[in-house]
Amino acid sequence: MKKRWLWGLGILGGAALTLAGLWLMVFRVNEFSLDIRLRGDSQVTLEYGQHYAEPGAEASLRGSLLLKQGWSPEEVRWTTDSDLDEERLGTYTVTYTAAYRDYTAQARRQVTVVDTQRPVITLTEDGPLEPEVRYEEAGFSAWDNYDGDITDRVERYETLGLVTYAVMDSSGNWGYASREIPPYDGQPPAVTLEGGTPYAIPLGVPYEEPGFTAVDNYDGDVTDAVEVSGEVCWYRRGTYPITYTVRDDFGNEAVYERLVEVTPAPRPKVVQPPGKTIFLTFDDGPSSHTRQLLDVLDAYGVKATFFVTGGGDPDILTEIVSRGHAIGIHTLSHEYGEIYASPEAYFDDLYGMQAYILEKTGVKTTLMRFPGGSSNTVSRKSWEGLMTLLTEAVQDAGFQYFDWNIYSGDAGGAGATKKASGVAENVIRGMEEEGTGIVLQHDIHGFSVEAVEDILIWGLNNGYHFDRLTENSPGYHHPVNN
Ligand code: ZN
Repeated sequence: MKKRWLWGLGILGGAALTLAGLWLMVFRVNEFSLDIRLRGDSQVTLEYGQHYAEPGAEASLRGSLLLKQGWSPEEVRWTTDSDLDEERLGTYTVTYTAAYRDYTAQARRQVTVVDTQRPVITLTEDGPLEPEVRYEEAGFSAWDNYDGDITDRVERYETLGLVTYAVMDSSGNWGYASREIPPYDGQPPAVTLEGGTPYAIPLGVPYEEPGFTAVDNYDGDVTDAVEVSGEVCWYRRGTYPITYTVRDDFGNEAVYERLVEVTPAPRPKVVQPPGKTIFLTFDDGPSSHTRQLLDVLDAYGVKATFFVTGGGDPDILTEIVSRGHAIGIHTLSHEYGEIYASPEAYFDDLYGMQAYILEKTGVKTTLMRFPGGSSNTVSRKSWEGLMTLLTEAVQDAGFQYFDWNIYSGDAGGAGATKKASGVAENVIRGMEEEGTGIVLQHDIHGFSVEAVEDILIWGLNNGYHFDRLTENSPGYHHPVNN
């Protein structure tokens, strides 16, 4: 009896425990949640102009132990919230809220409204086109599905035979159009002058074209087609225009000008020597008498100046310099007819002799004496005004020319003599009359060289000082006769 009771109690207790276990299992251990599954993609891209079609969503109750596959109750309460504006590009959110009994859930879908459509450019039709006449724009308009009329944003490029139109809408989409037109080029070539303008050159140096290039927008490099005109008188100070003319294939002409400035060298300051200074000068050497002359000058410790030519023994030129005398340019050829034929011919001879002396002696002399002096009339027939021009030009080119005020008479003309005594008399009389100055003798004449010792003795005894010429010495310039 007692046992049965115990049995019943045991069964009841077991059932109570089982129920408690089931309760725990269903309502405590098994956790439920409400899930939302979006139909379609969670991110939707909508082309501007398309309409958003709501794909909807599903809700299901899901448990961790039971209802693992989920169960869709029918009496779910849905609310859908959205800020979507199909008329404006942007990113929007659609929010789905589901409620079932005590369970709620939320999900979101992103909707992006984009514009990927290119704007469209519409060209107004052309009337009859005339060949090779500048095209007149017939008109165009641009329309974008989102921005509307964007004609004012069109960029227009005209090339030879083609107009290209391009426009970008606010989303970065480009629209293009183009039209063929009669080829037209309104742009002449561009010329670049090397060295620029104004272009300065030192007087006395023949002008050389500094170079140029010409480029045309359609023909490319047209340098070879450039015509250069104008002349530079490189031995006369002034500004000279040089003109560069070039045409492209279309006939567009470009004219450029370069101003060449022929710039004179600064002239050295003339320093008046102290009273009773005599500059002995000897032309036309070197000759077989020159060494004898150098010995006499050395014996009296006197320095002189030699205006030399391209003839004779060049070793003597070296000796003239090494023995302390001044060396100057007379002429390379001493052919009056040649050197006075033109300014160019004269400068040719002058520079030729300067280079010759430099080569033989290492001295680049700027001292010079015109053959026949600056008062010569040789050039009257060949080149009128030549000496007027040259006397300025050589100084502007950096040379100093020297004439004389005491003539020895050793080469004919006034006081002509062929005797040493005659030369000495002429020079001494000149020294007495002039006091200071430049003596002209020729060391190609033995009798003239022989006169030098008497001249030195007389001069030194009478308080004269003998010196060599420098670029600062007075030139004793003659009046010019041509
Ligand atoms: Zn001479």
